[in-house]
Amino acid sequence: MKIIMLGAPGAGKGTQAKKIAEKYGLPHVSTGDIFRANIKNGTPLGIEAKKYMDEGKLVPDELTVKILLDRVAQDDCKNGYILDGFPRTIPQAEVLDKALTELNDKIDYAIDVEVPDENIINRMGGRRACLACGATYHVVFNAPKKEGICDACGKELVLRDDDAPETVKKRLDVYHEQTQPLIDFYNKKGILKEVDGTKEMNDVFNAIVSILDK
Ligand code: ADP
Ligand code: AMP
Repeated sequence: MKIIMLGAPGAGKGTQAKKIAEKYGLPHVSTGDIFRANIKNGTPLGIEAKKYMDEGKLVPDELTVKILLDRVAQDDCKNGYILDGFPRTIPQAEVLDKALTELNDKIDYAIDVEVPDENIINRMGGRRACLACGATYHVVFNAPKKEGICDACGKELVLRDDDAPETVKKRLDVYHEQTQPLIDFYNKKGILKEVDGTKEMNDVFNAIVSILDK
């Protein structure tokens, strides 16, 4: 099963992708996580990507598409995967489509987690991330057991640089302009599924499971 998570930054794509990954035994592929790991390790890709990420802009398609196609060509993606944060532009979606068609393959579901912009600002201000293992928390809605410490790996949690309110506003503009058109793109392919992302995390998850288990 191959799944794409769509939705604004902060809609809950990563939160849900991790839960789906666990339940269905599929790898969670997040381009944002891949970029952050590269930034942490000081690689040339990380240094280049950081320039765009800190400004709330998208990393150029040429860079992003390559790292994504390399990632999904790995062995653990043979039986499927969940894409979180990719595609974010129509050209990215077209390249993915073409690569899959060449393999006689396709995406099964594009799940759009719908959350209005008003709710997003709140969520992002409260998001805390573990840059060591990729886990994500919220100070109110999904607090770690010990404040500021990752439940999963014990490392310190941080407020992501790009979660500052001004950058979030910029990211939302970029989302509406460049990423939202993907909803229509996947609707036309007949694989779009919409869920109400304003609900409590487990309710959102149950809605997704009922789509995938149909
Ligand atoms: P995305 O991957 O779409 O950017 P995240 O999954 O990181 O979004 O979620 C953004 C923030 O909102 C995180 O702090 C997360 O814990 C919180 N969150 C996710 N889903 C919900 C929900 N249904 N209700 C309240 N908070 C949520
Ligand atoms: P995310 O963790 O998905 O919120 O992504 C964080 C940032 O990484 C984004 O704001 C972009 O700058 C960059 N990024 C992640 N995925 C992509 C993508 N598919 N295309 C372009 N930039 C991306």
